[in-house]
Amino acid sequence: AGGSGADFTYAPFKIIIVGDSGVGKTSLLVRFVEGRYTGTAAPTVSIDISTASLKLGTSTVGLALWDTAGQERFAPLSTPYFRQADGVVVVYDVASRASFTRVASYWIDEIFYKAEPDVSVMLVGAKADTPPESREVSREEAEAFANERGWLYFEASALSGAHVRDAFYLLA
Ligand code: GDP
Ligand code: MG
Repeated sequence: AGGSGADFTYAPFKIIIVGDSGVGKTSLLVRFVEGRYTGTAAPTVSIDISTASLKLGTSTVGLALWDTAGQERFAPLSTPYFRQADGVVVVYDVASRASFTRVASYWIDEIFYKAEPDVSVMLVGAKADTPPESREVSREEAEAFANERGWLYFEASALSGAHVRDAFYLLA
């Protein structure tokens, strides 16, 4: 990942990241694009688009990764944010039952009403490094939920880096 201005085999795919505030969206993107963990860095201040280029077989696939400004805390994400997205990464926090419940009660409708009907969706359980005693959502439950909807599924940790690249490569 990383780099810019590459000669892509195809036009870059637009990938948006959604989910409740604080679930670890920005941390996952920073881990993927910059290979580091931000921890408690300052929250995003505006919509931030980073680019990554992935080698998939003989193709070079570009991703334009759209992160929110943290406005999901205060207001619905705008329709332009969703428009013409090729992929949606829906993130919840494995240590937060509420953030997982919100995928079914809120984010699924946002995607249905604002994104293209054929968009590829990947559910990501973030903070997979959470110790078992603090975990509130099992992998089995979340994976079944994703499978029922034809979504991809991964658990990943921005902190350790586990499965972050795997997730974005699978989506690409
Ligand atoms: P966003 O609001 O969804 O963009 O969430 P952030 O990426 O800003 O993350 C919110 C907070 O969650 C961070 O400040 C970290 O404290 C914590 N966090 C993010 N990723 C991880 C992770 O992989 N593991 C753990 N344990 N904590 C994380
Ligand atoms: Mg953020």
